Amino acid sequence: MTPPEHPVPVVIVGAGPAGLTVGNVLRAAGIDCVVLECETRAFIEQRPRAGVIEEWAVHGLDRRGLAANLLARAERHTACEFRFEGERHRFPYGELTGRHHFVYPQPLLVTDLVREYADVRGGAIRFAVRDVRLHAVDTARPSVSYTCPDTGRREVLRCDFVAGCDGARGVSRGALPAARVRVARHDYGIGWLALLAQAPPSADSVLFGMHPDGFAGQMPRGPDVTRYYLQCPPGDDPDSWPKEHVWDQLHRRLAADGAAPLVEGPLIEKRVLDMHDYVVEPMRHGRLFLAGDAAHLVAPIAAKGMNLALHDAFLLGDALTAHLHGSPDGEARLRAYSQACLRRVWDYQEFSQWLSELYHGTATGDPFRTGTTLARLRRLFTSRHAAAAFAEQYLGTAERY
Ligand code: FAD
Repeated sequence: MTPPEHPVPVVIVGAGPAGLTVGNVLRAAGIDCVVLECETRAFIEQRPRAGVIEEWAVHGLDRRGLAANLLARAERHTACEFRFEGERHRFPYGELTGRHHFVYPQPLLVTDLVREYADVRGGAIRFAVRDVRLHAVDTARPSVSYTCPDTGRREVLRCDFVAGCDGARGVSRGALPAARVRVARHDYGIGWLALLAQAPPSADSVLFGMHPDGFAGQMPRGPDVTRYYLQCPPGDDPDSWPKEHVWDQLHRRLAADGAAPLVEGPLIEKRVLDMHDYVVEPMRHGRLFLAGDAAHLVAPIAAKGMNLALHDAFLLGDALTAHLHGSPDGEARLRAYSQACLRRVWDYQEFSQWLSELYHGTATGDPFRTGTTLARLRRLFTSRHAAAAFAEQYLGTAERY
């Protein structure tokens, strides 16, 4: 094992939206940190996932000098469309609230954040590291060890703080002692076939199709690529969905009077996601702070996960900066971190559950749930209070969480 290097104030595990944003905030404040990422740079810059970013999150990135490309290139969305019982119902949330969503594919955001962190702000980042382990996080001198991909040797980074931003399958969460944390889980018992089609969107907005065969969704990702979702049994085999069947089900579940036909194209991603959520409380143990999917997973039902990851990262980056710069409120901000994140996390989890019934209720085969789901859907178009409440949750614009 290589002897430990000089201590670095913060080691960040994971170069996703959360980790790279924390790194950028720290580097802007002149604080040294090292990001450890188990994949290559090329891989993380191409991994397709999210696309919908809330306005407050974009403003948060912009305030930290991280949104120039996004603001120049992202589409602004002001409406979504629900399709049920063969009809289209446009929901113009922009008109109702004066607010909008940004659509900017996650790989583009990650590319921007890596470039800014490593190439502009001079942040240290090690790609393709293996077997990352966290040590002594409940002491004043934690460390993180990993295997260097070039030499095969174990390296050790001593530090003051560890930011665990390594997503749902990372190692940081496992460093929290089971007796000190509560992990709340929810399983929807539903799968989604997540698809990316090399095709322009079939409508200028997000589409939600509520159909007795199951939910279907369309999320524009740019002029040439469109994300589609099809509800399927959890654990379903993506290979049991040949492309003819995929397009047949998309046409069927998104059909509505007066709707333009879907634009078909090659499927460049096809995988099954089992819809489940978890929340780790608290998000801190000693000098380890979790952020993003490492701390809480919210199924992509409400397109909220990356937004929550950015919210955590803003709070964590700012609190670490305050503490490491000796600000009098630095310690208090670190203490308040977990609670401040979790209020928005639980709010978004609740919305995701509510939305899940809206999306999937008509496909249960249960006439009672079908009836209540259709009532819930119609209410959005008959009650301005229900519409306003939905718009606020959909956009994440509540005054307080
Ligand atoms: P990640 O993006 O998962 O980043 C974690 C990083 O850590 C990765 O680069 C990973 O390679 C690395 N890592 C993992 N383990 C280790 C290790 N042991 N050592 C070192 N590095 C490690 N959210 C939205 O807000 N809007 C959307 O529209 C949306 N759509 C989605 C669609 C799909 C199909 C999916 C799957 C997700 C979607 N999400 C959406 C959720 C969003 O993608 C995630 O919430 C977001 O990526 C979380 O960011 P993160 O930085 O916390 O984690």
